[in-house]
Amino acid sequence: MTALLRTLRGALAVDWRAFLRAHWTQRSWPAGKALGWLGALFGVAFLAQILWLASDQRQVLESSERLLERTVPSTLEHFRVARNLEQLRLEGERVFSGRTPVARQQARFIVSLLSSHPAMLADSRVAALAREVDAFLSQAARQGMSEQHYAEWETLSSRLSLLADDISTEGVNLASADLQLMSTTMLRSQVKLALVLALVALFVGGFLFLIHRHLIRPLQEMDDALRELRSGQALTPFSTTAMAEIRAVEGAIGQLREVMHENDEARRQLHFLATTDSLTGMFNRRHFMALAEDELRRAHRYGRPICVGMADLDNFKGINDGHGHAVGDRVLQSLAELFGHTLRQSDWVCRYGGEEFAFLFTETTLDEAHRLAERLRQHAAETSIDVGDGSGGLQLTLSLGLADASTGSLEAALGRADTALYAAKEEGRNRVVIAASAKTPRPPPEEGKDLDSPTGERGRK
Ligand code: GH3
Ligand code: MG
Ligand code: MG
Repeated sequence: MTALLRTLRGALAVDWRAFLRAHWTQRSWPAGKALGWLGALFGVAFLAQILWLASDQRQVLESSERLLERTVPSTLEHFRVARNLEQLRLEGERVFSGRTPVARQQARFIVSLLSSHPAMLADSRVAALAREVDAFLSQAARQGMSEQHYAEWETLSSRLSLLADDISTEGVNLASADLQLMSTTMLRSQVKLALVLALVALFVGGFLFLIHRHLIRPLQEMDDALRELRSGQALTPFSTTAMAEIRAVEGAIGQLREVMHENDEARRQLHFLATTDSLTGMFNRRHFMALAEDELRRAHRYGRPICVGMADLDNFKGINDGHGHAVGDRVLQSLAELFGHTLRQSDWVCRYGGEEFAFLFTETTLDEAHRLAERLRQHAAETSIDVGDGSGGLQLTLSLGLADASTGSLEAALGRADTALYAAKEEGRNRVVIAASAKTPRPPPEEGKDLDSPTGERGRK
């Protein structure tokens, strides 16, 4: 007993939820097969219930047939016998009370007739009493119908009444037993019908639940997932479904998402490679030119001020020669960071080639561009670049050329800025020279006057 209890406890301690998850929930079923099995299960259950109901219907039919063919005739027969007994009693009464001898003789005759009637002879109690009545009345007639005879007749008369009542009651009981059986059977079949309907409702409810849980909800989730794919949102994980076909489509959507994600990544990578200088992370010359063309067109259309600039590191060759090419690269990267910190949100810069950089100052007059370029030059001159080779930091200077671009082409404006840059080099480097009308370098403007504050976010420009 104890061992049995221990085994039972062990069986109950099994993680049934995990078991069901592994063997049922996580299992996938082909939809057609699953629905086929469900339909077959329902069909078998429904058929069993119908057969169950049919047994009652058969019983009701049999009862009604029995009632019609046997019980009703038998009941009628009982009533007829009871009526004959009553008639026998009345005729017996007339044997005593008949006014004339003929009437009494007729009554005697009818009593004899009734006593020998086959319906009366079928029941032994009736036959015995009828015979007794007939014999008694014959004897009484022979002996002259005294008071004594009438007293005895009264006893017989009440026995006839009682027997007639008994026979009638038996007939009624016979019918009511069959009717009782029929009504019990019908009541039972009503309960069974209610159970069948409950089973059908349960099955339809369960079927709808399964259809919703494993078909409609996954389809809705797939619809959402496809919408998320189109909008580029992160895909919400699917809830589990047991339908193999749905799982296959979910898997395909997952793969599609991965492929799209990889494509997006590749596109981003390509765009980055096509627009960015790999060493400094700045825009490359091609991308800068395309952006600058757009900005220039917009400025020309609306008559807005716009300037371009060219910058070149002074004596950079010496750094390469003195510290090596790798240090030169790190200097270029540091300079890109410095541009990022110093320029404004609306300024564009690119690595134009080697250690030369091009600028585009939108919504900026030549004077404002001059102050900005001076600030760049000063920051560069004041910044000691640590290249990590133990030399303790390098001091660098920049030469810049500026040109107004509010008229003419981008190439022409950049050409003038380049000429101004060349002039800055000629005039001794570490300076800003303005092209066009200004033949000589302008004096540097007051620091910070009328300039937008730098954002520090434009390193790539
Ligand atoms: P100047 O003041 O006249 O400009 O003198 P400079 O020495 O800077 O002369 P120049 O501008 O002609 O020199 C350009 C040098 O920049 C030549 C080349 O070795 C170096 N350079 C160009 N591109 C790179 C690069 O990507 N990395 C490194 N480390 N050096 C580069
Ligand atoms: Mg140089
Ligand atoms: Mg150069």
